[in-house]
Amino acid sequence: MATTTFSIDASEIRRQFPFFQPHPEMRSLIYLDNAATTQKPYSVIEAVSNFWAHHNANVHRGGHGAGAKASELYEAARQRVAQFLNAREPAEIVFTRGTTEAINLVASSWGEAFVKAGDEVIITEMEHHANLLPWMRLAEKQGATLKVWRITDDGRLNLDDLRTLLTERTRLVAVVHISNVLGVVNPVAEICRLAHDAGALCLVDAAQSVAHMPVDVQAIDCDFLMFSGHKAYGPTGIGALYAKRSLLEAMPPYQVGGGIVKTVSWERLVWSEPPAKFEAGTPPIGEAVGLHAALDFIDSIGRATIEAYEHELTRYALERLQEVPGLRLFGPTPDRAGIFAFMLEDIHPHDIATVLDARDIAIRSGLHCAHPLGARLGGSTARASLAVYNDTAHIDALIEGLHEVRKVFGYV
Ligand code: PLP
Repeated sequence: MATTTFSIDASEIRRQFPFFQPHPEMRSLIYLDNAATTQKPYSVIEAVSNFWAHHNANVHRGGHGAGAKASELYEAARQRVAQFLNAREPAEIVFTRGTTEAINLVASSWGEAFVKAGDEVIITEMEHHANLLPWMRLAEKQGATLKVWRITDDGRLNLDDLRTLLTERTRLVAVVHISNVLGVVNPVAEICRLAHDAGALCLVDAAQSVAHMPVDVQAIDCDFLMFSGHKAYGPTGIGALYAKRSLLEAMPPYQVGGGIVKTVSWERLVWSEPPAKFEAGTPPIGEAVGLHAALDFIDSIGRATIEAYEHELTRYALERLQEVPGLRLFGPTPDRAGIFAFMLEDIHPHDIATVLDARDIAIRSGLHCAHPLGARLGGSTARASLAVYNDTAHIDALIEGLHEVRKVFGYV
């Protein structure tokens, strides 16, 4: 049972989400799969719907007022992302389909231009495949070396290990801000500083952090940072890449097509300035408008407030998880984000998720798109992950459910 008074009334927040209202065809769920995707508030759904209903037109094509309005909304979304991340200017924000596409963009565009045979890229053992496979492929293609920064037994990164990995051939350190499995919050500003001291760039995968804590690209001093709208209460199909302007200027386009050239003739091709240079074709306009509303939703609560609340909830969850016999939690404690990957006795994580689902509790199970990390941990895990609309009652239900799982599989 809850013993603390919490800084947010999550039931009040849930009222802003249709997903949590009764629906004739849907069971009401305790949703603890937020690291996979978050639910969407009315404000986001209404912003998207209002765009499609009243403002739909293509952007940056000129010609009529509707197009001008759509362009204005799209560029306002870019401005909002820039402000949200504290970028120096909106031109440092490129819209992508999400984190995965943003990292692929950097690996293809910057990587193929600036990582040569014999160069090194450092990634960590805890990366999601989105921040692993593009670098594996790049290394293979360029004849570069991929170096793996291993984790400690309690699921952290040791900065001394990075110091020994960095050499004058290191071009990039690519690191996740919050691990989608271990819940560890990596010291990205310190990591970027070490990378820069060695003459390398630093990329931060912020897919799991932007909705849960303040993220300031200037304070981190990262060269690249990216996130997905759908993990931050926004729509799928939209995300953002932040990159320092000088890098975007030096990088070739990722895809080519409409909207990214100043002039084309048979003799001559002049690319547009960033960010247009990286947004070939019709972009996800309604989705960008939805992302704008999602960032407004987050900031209407306040990221420091969200961080503090989720921290309180995480402490409560850590305490309660200890009560479940045979449960092994991965990642550091108590300083961590609200992502809890665990094994329970010898019960297969899919079975854990199935029994919980029958009790209307949604968690995830598997390798969480981080196979090398899964191998290090000893296989698949069950994973519960929090968002600002969760509360202690949800954690209590999870704990009760886990006791039930043990019973079902004969552990009592
Ligand atoms: N990075 C991390 C840490 C993630 O957790 C995820 C998704 O789970 C991704 C990258 C990929 O995000 P998306 O599938 O939205 O591109």
